Amino acid sequence: MSHGFDYRRNTLHCEGVALSAIAEEYGTPTFVYSRAALEANYQRVDAAFAGVPHLICYSLKANGNLSVGRVLAAQGAGADVVSGGELFRARKMGIEGNKIVYASVGKMVHEIEQALADGILMFNVESRAELETIAEVAARRGQRAPIALRVNPNIDPKTHPYITTGMRKYKFGVPPEEAVELYRWTVRTPSLQPVGIQMHIGSQLVEVGPIVEAAGKMAEVLRATGIPLRYFDVGGGLGITYKDEKPEGPELLAKKLAPLVKSLDCILILEPGRFLVGNAGILLTKVIYIKTNPEKKFVIADAAMNDLIRPSLYDAYHPILPVVPAYGAETVDVVGPICESGDFLAHGRELPPLKAGDLLAVGNAGAYGFTMSSNYNARPRAAEVLVEGESFRVARRRENYLDLIRGEE
Ligand SMILES: *Cc1c(COP(=O)(O)O)cnc(C)c1O
Repeated sequence: MSHGFDYRRNTLHCEGVALSAIAEEYGTPTFVYSRAALEANYQRVDAAFAGVPHLICYSLKANGNLSVGRVLAAQGAGADVVSGGELFRARKMGIEGNKIVYASVGKMVHEIEQALADGILMFNVESRAELETIAEVAARRGQRAPIALRVNPNIDPKTHPYITTGMRKYKFGVPPEEAVELYRWTVRTPSLQPVGIQMHIGSQLVEVGPIVEAAGKMAEVLRATGIPLRYFDVGGGLGITYKDEKPEGPELLAKKLAPLVKSLDCILILEPGRFLVGNAGILLTKVIYIKTNPEKKFVIADAAMNDLIRPSLYDAYHPILPVVPAYGAETVDVVGPICESGDFLAHGRELPPLKAGDLLAVGNAGAYGFTMSSNYNARPRAAEVLVEGESFRVARRRENYLDLIRGEE
């Protein structure tokens, strides 16, 4: 189950707060995040890499909520952003431009201008065409754009294909040979300043081996350029336990990367997203109806695929726990109200007998939960709540019907 969440006095709590109290105050569905868990996750990565000069750039796309980001920023986190909107969010979290790295295969001119104005640490550049555009925009502004090339090492990280990035069949980064060539061009271009090299091979990586192997390939590229690059950015991807995965974790990654990073005399950048926030959050939902047919029993909850798309999109497993435990077990599908057979939170799950009004906690929903949510079926998006010890406050209010039509004529 998610960190910071456990049963106390027969009710599931987040830190010192009963989830039932949160449901009463703010309704459901609601994402609930534990501040202590966010801090513990950050500190675990920071401590693992204590022996290496490093910067942890939190990957905002896992969870862009300002309150969540501010907790991590207060710990010292920078940001990894993938759009102008995320850059805007990162700045609103109080993260300085010089701690922000920016990757994306499709950076647009207005986003490049925004990033230059914000003085970001570096652009993680994904193609020659993009490099040329950044050079033009920077020249026009009389600036030198700090850049790193995102290397695609063509390594299979053994995760879900949709979250695999560092292979040639996917759109990300440039092959090692091309990277060397592009660095040469960069050196000759006055409006560009090569400061780093970057990769990100995929997400929810249970083994660190592929990251280490890819970092080795990236180090070869760095050496081949002959340029003294300051930042060696290995991306994110550290996996968490959703079901029975046993992720090797940041400690082993640090142990295996440290000698390489030290030999390069670089500052290591890490871009963890899921690892920092995934297990620090749950999705709190209420049972609306129980429905049976000759084949199955369905628990119909008020949270749906528009709130948490991971089960539908990746066939992902999320633990589901009753907020008040009960005896007995039966096999059910937990589904939402959306008009799609693909709308489910769990298939064939063992849960105690439930009735309308019962609360459920969908575990490990802190990453790629709210950020991937939508208004599909004209459902207002869920509230988000941050718990700190005995207290809790709304981190984003629930949307209402007017929010649904905002901006429409
Ligand atoms: C998504 C992403 C990350 C974070 O991935 P996690 O698996 O959540 O750690 C890091 N860097 C880049 C460039 C990304 O796109």
